[in-house]
Amino acid sequence: MSIIAVSSYAAGHWIPPGAGARPVESAVTGEVIAESGNDALDAGTMLDYAREVGGPALRALTFHDRARMVKALAMHLQEHRALLYALSHRTGATMADNRIDIDGGIGTLFVFASKGRREMPDGQVYLDGPVEQLSRDGTFLGQHIHTPLLGAAVQINAFNFPVWGMLEKLAPALIAGVPSIVKPATATGYVAEACVRIILDSGILPDGALQLVSGGLGDMLERLDAQDSVAFTGSAATARTLRATPNLLDAAVRFTAEQDSLNASVLGPDATPGTPEFDLFVKEAAREMTAKAGQKCTAIRRIIAPEAQVGPLIEALSARLSKTVIGDPARDDVRMGALVSRAQRRDVLDKVALLDAEAERVHGDPDAFAVTGADRERGAFLPPMLFRCDDPDAAVRVHDTEAFGPVATVMPYRDIDHAARLLNRGKGSLVASVVTRDGETARALTLASAAWHGRLYFNNRDSMAESTGHGSPLPHMVHGGPGRAGGGEELGGVRAMLHHMQRTAIQGSPDILTAIGGRWVPGAAEIEAPAHPFTRPFEALRIGETIHTESREVTSEDIAHFAEFTGDTFYAHMDDAAAAANPFFPGRVAHGYLLLSFAAGLFVQPDPGPVLANTGLDSLRFLKPLPPGERLAVRLTVKHKTRRNDDYGEVRWHVTLTDGAGDRVAEYELLTMNAFGT
Ligand code: NAP
Repeated sequence: MSIIAVSSYAAGHWIPPGAGARPVESAVTGEVIAESGNDALDAGTMLDYAREVGGPALRALTFHDRARMVKALAMHLQEHRALLYALSHRTGATMADNRIDIDGGIGTLFVFASKGRREMPDGQVYLDGPVEQLSRDGTFLGQHIHTPLLGAAVQINAFNFPVWGMLEKLAPALIAGVPSIVKPATATGYVAEACVRIILDSGILPDGALQLVSGGLGDMLERLDAQDSVAFTGSAATARTLRATPNLLDAAVRFTAEQDSLNASVLGPDATPGTPEFDLFVKEAAREMTAKAGQKCTAIRRIIAPEAQVGPLIEALSARLSKTVIGDPARDDVRMGALVSRAQRRDVLDKVALLDAEAERVHGDPDAFAVTGADRERGAFLPPMLFRCDDPDAAVRVHDTEAFGPVATVMPYRDIDHAARLLNRGKGSLVASVVTRDGETARALTLASAAWHGRLYFNNRDSMAESTGHGSPLPHMVHGGPGRAGGGEELGGVRAMLHHMQRTAIQGSPDILTAIGGRWVPGAAEIEAPAHPFTRPFEALRIGETIHTESREVTSEDIAHFAEFTGDTFYAHMDDAAAAANPFFPGRVAHGYLLLSFAAGLFVQPDPGPVLANTGLDSLRFLKPLPPGERLAVRLTVKHKTRRNDDYGEVRWHVTLTDGAGDRVAEYELLTMNAFGT
């Protein structure tokens, strides 16, 4: 079989392996199947290309354009994923593992694409929080904004998820508008390289948006500046080395690390044998130990159980683990494949020897286990191994040794406080899980240990059918943890995009803030609408276009009629004396919802036209009560527009209701869907 030449993609060209290339072995057969690396790769040229070609091309697009691009990439990869499945088996991954890595990576692209379009503007500036009132009359205001960094995002990934690991970092950078230089781990880089080829061949990305380093980074980290960033995933040891690169410190380059951690799972006191929770715990723990042959940064390494349940739990877990068919990952009947390499297997066995000193191995013998469809000695196979540590307070290794394979240690706890102390002995983890149906247990553990964990995952019979798994980072939720886990953060919806952007406090007049943010700010110029804005197609409406309506009187009869019609006979609308006794009302007042309805009656243009639907309102505040006999008028202003598709877009209107004295009675943002003109 020919050797795969794992290439890099630099400044628009594929560069095959060259001087300094390293051999890569198959996890299953131990044969050399690929070579990767080229010392001649020019990091300076790659960075220039990202900064001068990729960055400007991406930044010329809006968040929505870039999110659509990411969705197109996801669809394209979905069509071509069979090629990746086949390659990935050679890394030791079963089909179930491929679903996590390859399908999970593609799914992550879809989620970010959707978040980018739904939660970010169709523009180039992301507004962070509301306008801040910095002056009495509102002529000088503040607004926090985010704009993309002007450099390159260097993304260094671990070997265990060559596709997901790359895509979960790439998607947020692309949507933010920052070009990426990705560096997969050499051991599985041939899968990542194939994925990058599929992406680049699609032609979906602008030139320079994505470059690939297969092999070493050369002096790239020495060339970064404060507009660049490094996102690292891998071991704590490598993170420590890279973090200390003098130039990263000198130039204050953003550096985030997602590293290893000793994730734990707690069996709740209520989850006794015979309950659905006990069975669920056994199932999840076994799955976490065997998925990706335990090579998951989030895998359960420490199992914390009530003293009385340690024995039954080990028995049930061992019974389940003994059913794990180990072998050729391409076979349908195999449940656990190989570790990535024989070097990785040696590393795991070295770590197991450390655990041996403090804990007793109660399941799995690395010298005696069956392998189906492959040669046990040539491939990097190991069985699931379970340890029991009866004195976890005195033990050290079980809390700080990550055996990056199918290995976990069971330990007892006396009470919830003790369970929390053991959870926190990992000194910072990506995820901790608790199987319990008891809200008090969940709350107590949260208060005692959430600060040490990036994610807390609770599961029980009510959520188990739809729960996503202890070990699955989701694009919607943050991934990363304090301390030992690296102190970094990724994913978490729009938060992930913001890691690639600079937050800047903008101060200025309402007109200046409106011009920068693309969102009308009260106090900014009102543009006189040439016709009623409800008659104007989406593309014609300008930000700031405003109408002021006629006023109408709100009578006691109106209030009585509304009360009777709706059934809302709250005393403040019905009984003058009772209302006056209330500190908020001068006497009887109109219903807030009556005012909203009258407001619609005042500003609506009734004929069929571009306004297709009223889809809601945001930020409603009733500011001043309106007594009967007062007059009501409305100002309606185009605040913001978001194109949804080729047919229509969302218009956000700023609506202000005023009384006869011109005081604000209510304020809100109205949302409508408006058609484009034909
Ligand atoms: P690793 O040895 O630390 O390598 C991680 C990445 O760093 C690889 O791409 C590696 O490239 C690169 N690297 C190593 N030395 C470097 C240097 N001097 N300069 C630039 N790059 C360098 O980790 P691994 O063995 O691939 O992955 C296993 C570890 O990752 C486990 O400890 C696991 O817990 C952790 N992990 C954490 C997460 C998370 O999200 N927190 C996810 C997955 C894995 P080469 O391969 O070319 O050396």
